[in-house]
Amino acid sequence: MTTEKKAPARRPRSPKPAPAAEACGTCDGSGETTTTVRVGRKRREIGAIQSGLCPSCLGTGTA
Ligand SMILES: [Zn+2]
Repeated sequence: MTTEKKAPARRPRSPKPAPAAEACGTCDGSGETTTTVRVGRKRREIGAIQSGLCPSCLGTGTA
């Protein structure tokens, strides 16, 4: 006859860390892309920057 010791149920103290997500190369992980606003026929830059959702990752920042 063997005596089985029951291992105490251990609850993980911290949830498993999320696997390192690969940062999106298009937006560099920010989830946003910035485009310089150009106007006119010569596409002159007016110094304004337009930001938008990254089309590659749709704002998640991960590839
Ligand atoms: Zn992106």
